Amino acid sequence: MAAENEGIQVIKPGTEFSTCPKCGYAKGFHSAYLDASAGKPTPVKSTKKVYRVLLICPECGAQYDIGLKTSLSEDCAQVVTVSMSCDKTLPKSG
Ligand SMILES: [Zn+2]
Repeated sequence: MAAENEGIQVIKPGTEFSTCPKCGYAKGFHSAYLDASAGKPTPVKSTKKVYRVLLICPECGAQYDIGLKTSLSEDCAQVVTVSMSCDKTLPKSG
């Protein structure tokens, strides 16, 4: 039986997770970020907030948690998550 948490399905992806298991939509997911400590008493006050990354099917709205987490530092709360290279310029050939 799948673990359910507010309609969020926790699943373990295989080599990739780009197709909705529920409806078969295969073009990837929206993402949403939930405070991972929400509702829990935090024994240690951390400077970093940790967020669970949820994947949401754009087609059927199913929500999946594949175990992704991310954190923001207080300094650069808007420079978040999946940034690849924000302050580096790519070397140009030629
Ligand atoms: Zn779906």
